[in-house]
Amino acid sequence: MKNKTTNRQKIRTVLVGVAASPGYAYGPVRKTESRKFSLDSSAIPASTLVAEEKRFRKAVDTTAKEIEELKKVAIERLGEEEARIFDSHLMMLKDSMLIDPIVDSILKDAHNARWAVHSTLSGLITQLENSKNEVLSERASDLKELYNRLLSALDESIPKRPPKKSKGPSLLVAHELTPGMLMTVEKDDVLGFATDIGGRTSHISILARAMQIPAVSGLRNISNLIEEDDLLFLDGTGGMVILNPNEDDLSRYKEKLSVYNKQKQELFMMRQLEPMTLDGKYITLHANIELPMEADTVLDFGATGIGLYRSEFLFFRKGAPSCEEQAQAYAHILKKLEPHPVVIRTLDAGGDKLVSDISATDEANPFMGWRSIRVCLSRKDLFKEQLRALLLASREGHLRIMFPMISSLDELREAKRLYQECRTQLLNEGVELPKVKVGCMIEVPAAVMMVDARAKEVDFFSIGTNDLIQFTLAVDRTNELIANMFEPHHPAVLNMIDRTVRAAHREGIPVCVCGEMSSDPLSTLVLVGLGVDELSMTPWSIMECKKIIRSVNYEDVKATARTVLKMDTAESVNRYLRQKYLQMIIDLGISSFITSHDVKNPMDKNA
Ligand code: PEP
Ligand code: MG
Repeated sequence: MKNKTTNRQKIRTVLVGVAASPGYAYGPVRKTESRKFSLDSSAIPASTLVAEEKRFRKAVDTTAKEIEELKKVAIERLGEEEARIFDSHLMMLKDSMLIDPIVDSILKDAHNARWAVHSTLSGLITQLENSKNEVLSERASDLKELYNRLLSALDESIPKRPPKKSKGPSLLVAHELTPGMLMTVEKDDVLGFATDIGGRTSHISILARAMQIPAVSGLRNISNLIEEDDLLFLDGTGGMVILNPNEDDLSRYKEKLSVYNKQKQELFMMRQLEPMTLDGKYITLHANIELPMEADTVLDFGATGIGLYRSEFLFFRKGAPSCEEQAQAYAHILKKLEPHPVVIRTLDAGGDKLVSDISATDEANPFMGWRSIRVCLSRKDLFKEQLRALLLASREGHLRIMFPMISSLDELREAKRLYQECRTQLLNEGVELPKVKVGCMIEVPAAVMMVDARAKEVDFFSIGTNDLIQFTLAVDRTNELIANMFEPHHPAVLNMIDRTVRAAHREGIPVCVCGEMSSDPLSTLVLVGLGVDELSMTPWSIMECKKIIRSVNYEDVKATARTVLKMDTAESVNRYLRQKYLQMIIDLGISSFITSHDVKNPMDKNA
């Protein structure tokens, strides 16, 4: 690929960020910047106030039309469900809490419309951006998109820019990208994208995964370091980029890309192979999804079902989705997967997944606060609407319902009672319903301590190790300062999993692990050895997981599990597992493992 020569010295730079969407890309950069607006705070004459308000309201209409257009493009490219991301922008435009203060600023403070928008929204945006809560801070980008669109609609001085001419396939680099910006470029022109801010749960990252565009976010200042047409290597699997890569990088990139492409081919071939150990133990491999649309492809990744659909993603917009909207989304997933099972988890809002109108925003300890089943049991209207939607959709496929964050039997029994109530109501209305299995997550230590009683109450368990580790070790899963203490192989965690599996099997119910741990190669082996029946993970990890399972004997990993259960530190467990399996994993070419090591020990010594 040709690079435009400039006088600027091209220095090779490695930047590590957040792996927002997997895959690799290499090519020239296309920068997308937000437009700079001229702003003037001086007061306008009283006689023009009403006209200025009118001008603002017209800008709101223009903006709404633009967003409707983007939504149409999104529907074509992604489908109805994903296009709903734009609904949250449209709702904001209708929100009097947002619009009235701007109007007041014009009419009462005699501000011109642009200044009124700027002074009202920029404060809000800063507040959201500074929030320690990842989800809240990511919602700032939605508001920023509106801010830019409104100011642009009010800026008559600048003629409307024609869309940038396509340069052919390139990598988008921006301080921040919004779903709207992504919809305005041709999908084939986007090899990947890199941004200064944003995390894995931002809307743009979710869209990138759904569209299978590799992406790295949270790179802090890539937009300043790079210029148009610079060359960039992007590793969306490991979460890193190299600006101005050297020859070695490029040959590594080619290697990685060919492994990746080979894996994609293998993935197709492995679809037919069973996830079975050498001595014949079958481990069910299911997929975790966040968007209904992801259900369209999970079977291609070799999953035989969905082990976790995080339904709260449907609620990340203003106003809860109606019963009909929910039933439609759930039915879409069930139909795509039929006859395979789909575990839909009821709303797990709160913690780092704040849902507007539902979640509390000012909790000192949000992960241990007003969240998940606690919200559902006190907002019974909302919960029953979701249960009704689930039951209506259950006629379309093989549904299993799962309750999250249950910490007491009382909660579980109340959730089951409400489920039964909704079921009876529908049956009384003459709706025929299939049998639906009901399970719960095991993700707080109290659940493990009382696991025998709980196993008698449900049809299946799913261990949410992301939360179980956080609560068992008292390590906030989102706090970078203590990220090294978030240790899945801590003996306390392993013994909790062991206890859960034994209790479940005594009652004859299966156990799944659906936390991130299930797809870490060394953890996979321990979990299989502990007798876990199912592993549920991001679809991209399923093939590698299958490879690992097909390379070991169940009897051997069982012995490994028994050995590590007796160890007293995570360090000794890790040392033992590495000694025993590291070479095998490397020989299998498990790229997620190799990549994460690359990133942890910076890619090159000369980086
Ligand atoms: C978990 O806690 O492990 C889990 C799967 O749920 P979430 O990550 O959505 O909290
Ligand atoms: Mg959880």
